[in-house]
Amino acid sequence: MLLTDSHCHFDFAAFGGANKQARAHHWQRAQAVGVHRLVIPGIEAAQWPTLAPLCARYRGLYYALGLHPWWLANAPSSWQTQLAAALAQADKGCVAVGEIGLDRHLSVAQEQQEDALIAQLKLAHHYQLPVILHSVGTHDRVLKWLRRYPVVGGVVHGFSGSLQQAEAFWKLGFYIGVGGSISYPRANKTRRAIAVLPVEALVLETDAPDMPLCGFQGQDNHPSQLPLVLSSLAKLRQSDEATLAIQLEHNVNQLFDFANNKL
Ligand SMILES: [Zn+2]
Repeated sequence: MLLTDSHCHFDFAAFGGANKQARAHHWQRAQAVGVHRLVIPGIEAAQWPTLAPLCARYRGLYYALGLHPWWLANAPSSWQTQLAAALAQADKGCVAVGEIGLDRHLSVAQEQQEDALIAQLKLAHHYQLPVILHSVGTHDRVLKWLRRYPVVGGVVHGFSGSLQQAEAFWKLGFYIGVGGSISYPRANKTRRAIAVLPVEALVLETDAPDMPLCGFQGQDNHPSQLPLVLSSLAKLRQSDEATLAIQLEHNVNQLFDFANNKL
């Protein structure tokens, strides 16, 4: 069974930092349980130049370029120019613009967050790349901007919300990123939405080292946990894991262009 982690911060210190041997070991652990590809989201300008060389070193690693809303407050004033240049020079390992979006819990003014989102939606449109969305308590605002500044598609990563909101994203060509949050019984609304959405709308993710699964709270999450996300999803949808895995691989191949992949 082969699985793709559509959202994993594999460049973070939890996975070895500058220690290449430790990182190789973490990737082997993930591969050993069937995770054959993962996508590392962009977060900030200083990180962008590191992603292509990192992904070139390991088979199955891909990346996205973008300014995460959490890094907006400390972004250099030239970040938009830097991002445009990074995208212009990106190699085949770059499969998306992201992670970008809005977050209601941030102290950065909503207008400033929205300006950054819009600028990056325009870049994604220009380069005909899908976007990886971070949307926390802001689905309706994000949907509004997606309608105004359309892109080729994308994914709402770590989706949490109602069926109606998920359907609105799916209608705009956005996949729904399913992560560890569905393993928590209290995530009722999200679980109900994920249970009944068309299976064609779903992709898997861990968001590691964040978002540990239920039962693993307080520990770093790991891409090798992806099969547990699959089992939670299979249970929730009362479907067979192997069949579901094949469909989810098909979905993520539609979402990201791995056509020039290194596998
Ligand atoms: Zn993330």
